[in-house]
Amino acid sequence: MPRPIAARIHLDAIRHNLQLVKRTAPTSRVWSVIKANAYGHGIERIYPALAEADGIALLDLDEAVRVRELGWNRPVLLLEGVFEPDDLAVADPYRLTVSVHCDEQLDMLAAARPREPIDIQLKMNSGMNRLGFRPADYERAWLRASRIEAIASIGLMTHFANADDGAIDWQVDAFDAVTRHLPGTRSLSNSAAVLWHPRAHRDWVRPGTILYGASPSGCARHIEGIPLRAAMTLESRIIGVQTLQPGETTGYGRTFTADRPMRIGVVACGYADGYPRHAPAGTPVRVAGVRTQLVGRVSMDMLTVDLTPCAAAGMGAPVELWGEHIRVDEVAEPSGTIGYELLCALARRVRVRCDTADVTAERLAQPV
Ligand SMILES: *Cc1c(COP(=O)(O)O)cnc(C)c1O
Repeated sequence: MPRPIAARIHLDAIRHNLQLVKRTAPTSRVWSVIKANAYGHGIERIYPALAEADGIALLDLDEAVRVRELGWNRPVLLLEGVFEPDDLAVADPYRLTVSVHCDEQLDMLAAARPREPIDIQLKMNSGMNRLGFRPADYERAWLRASRIEAIASIGLMTHFANADDGAIDWQVDAFDAVTRHLPGTRSLSNSAAVLWHPRAHRDWVRPGTILYGASPSGCARHIEGIPLRAAMTLESRIIGVQTLQPGETTGYGRTFTADRPMRIGVVACGYADGYPRHAPAGTPVRVAGVRTQLVGRVSMDMLTVDLTPCAAAGMGAPVELWGEHIRVDEVAEPSGTIGYELLCALARRVRVRCDTADVTAERLAQPV
């Protein structure tokens, strides 16, 4: 029997979250962001749940080709555009939309002779200072793009630095001031702006993390009351039980000391599975349907939990590390990271299963 740890992927949760995006931004089309192998969930695995998306956005040329080979015939956006001229020779036959954020990419398009002109998203650096043309440079770049024969349409795009915890008006204002008189679709909003900044919804939104049910701010509290469903459950079992006497410790570094007689459960899950080693004592874990907490240090293949509130739980008891009942952000936050990182970092050795019931036509037809 393999180790009892597994990740379960819930297609109906992704479908539900996508519908939530559509209801929240009802006049926008949706680029479903599936970079980083669909935030760790697996592109091929979650693909059936994207049927209602208007477009797919990602980073890797390989991933874009995989999506086309799955049969996707609506737009595919390369969020960082191409890295070298040869990439355009792939973007052309696979009809990829490319983000263009610098003059070097315009040079590549100016020199390219694609069979069909290529749609681009011209990216403005409205304050994030990562990729894009500065506002003062944007119109010049747009004029240049509009004269390049290899370019079909020009969408206008920018990305927010702190839509999750702050105001976005300064970036929206910078974007609008320069683009007001330019034609083309607008695309500004990541997950946080979809949830919290309707002003920025515009023609196309670009949600990633909320499709998978994680919090755009990394904080579970911020999405309380928003009916997002976890697309991944990381689950395992209790593979050992110890009874500690007061004064005894558990695990490496002896960081946890029992102050009373207590039962400790050993879970088959460690940092080599993608569980954060920095998770402190007190991080929530669900054992046999009861919420309890981590004690002691997370090791490579195991972690330990307090079984005091789960008197009935013994060897083989089911454990949820994150998922439906424990938001991934509740594990990420005390560990000094965000849910995004934990989902993307699920280790290869963890078996992944898809809820098969989800792909039935019946479920597809169900209202959210
Ligand atoms: C990753 C990414 C997104 C999605 O961000 P989330 O916070 O996951 O919604 C949107 N736009 C761009 C340009 C991105 O790189």
